[in-house]
Amino acid sequence: MIRFPTEIVDIMIKHAVSGLPNEACGLLALHGNVVRRVYCLENVAASPDRFTIDPDGHHDAVIDADENGWEIAASFHSHPDGREQPSETDIEMSPGAEWLHVILGMGSSLPSIGVYRVGTRAVPCTFRIG
Ligand SMILES: [Zn+2]
Repeated sequence: MIRFPTEIVDIMIKHAVSGLPNEACGLLALHGNVVRRVYCLENVAASPDRFTIDPDGHHDAVIDADENGWEIAASFHSHPDGREQPSETDIEMSPGAEWLHVILGMGSSLPSIGVYRVGTRAVPCTFRIG
């Protein structure tokens, strides 16, 4: 069970809204199963159906997480058309089955959230907000 403090979810949703019509992305630092910090980063692909995390921002996030004793163990990104399931591209580009993918579906008035571990296929993870 992954736990997301409410304020972390709020920050991710704001970043997803500000990135529209493109996908927005970022990284999450975890300590155990708790998300401790969110890094809202630039999608250098600037695309509505894929994302590439800004490498400089990624580097800075790893340093910040290290200094705090956390681990960068997840990315988050939005799907402007609404699906919170991983796309074919997400599965192809996944760094490995231990990596957590947090996906924000932005197609309806209330954003939906999906959390997956993605190896050769996507496996949903249980999570709690708050
Ligand atoms: Zn995606």
